[in-house]
Parts: sequence; structure tokens; C-alpha cells
Amino acid sequence: MLIGGIQKMTLIDYPSKVAAIIFTVGCNFRCRFCYNVKLVDESLFKEIETIDEKEIIEFLKTRIGKLEAIVITGGEPTMQSDLKAFILKIKKMGFLVKLDTNGTNPDVISDLLNRKIIDYIAMDIKNELTESDYTKIVNRVIDMENIKKSIDIIMKSGIDYEFRTTVAPGVSRENIKNIVKTIKGAKKYYLQEFQAGDVLDNQCKKDKWLSKEELDEIAEEIKNSFGECKAR
Ligand code: SF4
Repeated sequence: MLIGGIQKMTLIDYPSKVAAIIFTVGCNFRCRFCYNVKLVDESLFKEIETIDEKEIIEFLKTRIGKLEAIVITGGEPTMQSDLKAFILKIKKMGFLVKLDTNGTNPDVISDLLNRKIIDYIAMDIKNELTESDYTKIVNRVIDMENIKKSIDIIMKSGIDYEFRTTVAPGVSRENIKNIVKTIKGAKKYYLQEFQAGDVLDNQCKKDKWLSKEELDEIAEEIKNSFGECKAR
């Protein structure tokens, strides 16, 4: 596992659990709004002090009984060839595992679910599920079928999950309404406000984006399509 960082405690990243977050290096998307720039931009990888997996495992051993869960995020964790082996080590220590993913590797997601080694999955839905809408946000040519497959696998998984959209410049009300048509009936859907901090493409801050108030309004309109839906 190529690990670029660890947050030793969080109360907000795994619902209702005390957790740590592990950040993997590398991503197959280039979302304009991405704030994990060093984990995504290869030219900045040399600035990252990667952490040896053994060191992480030793640290986690000291947290048994103190932490309840481990969140694996990125970058895009499903790009790591030894993700499954790493999760197995974490599960052996008794932690719950949450996986954050962009949904580009449905086979990896399916394998982890079949082996029952993840307890919660959060998938980003970057935009309406057409190639042109998606590409303009993620800046990569992608196979939309993989994204749709991941959505389907997760909705049928039986584990706890959430979908979420960062409503960045380029994502419109209309786009959100069309996302809703695709994931109607999902357990949870969150609209995340774009944060104009240090992002991958600082130019995107010159474009308009929907405000938190507008997202609250949209969440109210669409909430009946989901078990839970809110703007955050
Ligand atoms: S936001 Fe997530 S999927 Fe997009 S580039 Fe950043 S790490 Fe990758």
C-alpha cells in the first residue's frame, strides 16, 4: 500500500464511530475541486513522505479498544493492488472499515463486498452520469459503465453506504436532478458544498457554484427519494 498520510482520530468521517483515516497515494481522476492535491498530482509525489505499511499496522495495534473504525480514502484506494490484504490485516484487529471510492473499479468493490471485509462504503458521484458531464469534472476519459456498475453493486450490497456529490463549479441543479433519477431509493445521498480552498485547478474558483443555502433547498426537494438526504 502506498500510504501518504494518516489522521489519527476523527469523529466525523465514519458515522457515529471514533475512527482514524488512512490516505492512499494516487488517483485516476483529476477533479478540478480536489483538495488532496499532493495525493493526486504525480509531480508533487516527491513532496510526500510516504508511511511504511508496517508502521501503520503497529500504530493501529496500539489503538485497539480506543478506535472503533478505520477509514481508507485517497487518492483512490481501489488503485492499490494490495488493498484487500491491507484491509484483512485491519479487520483481524477488530476494526470496522469504511472505504471511500470514486467508483471506477467495480470489480475491486465487488470482491471486497463479497468477502465481507468492508462495513461502510462512500462513493462520490461527480456529476450527472453522462460521459460529457462527468469528464468535465474529473478531467479524465472514463468508462461510465464502471461508475454505473459500482452504483448498482453498492445499492445491492446490504451494507451501510452513502453516495455524495461535491457540488463544484460545473455541477448544476439540473445535473443533480438527473443524478437523483439514477440513484433514487439509495440509503443516503449528501450534497457537499464546494470549498474554495487550495484545489487542483484554482481556475475553477472563477466559475460560479451553488451555495450552501441553494443546496439546502435542493436537498429539501429531493429528500423523499432517499432514506436520508442533506446538504453539508
Ligand atoms: S477528489 Fe477524489 S477522485 Fe477526484 S481527484 Fe481528488 S482524490 Fe481523486
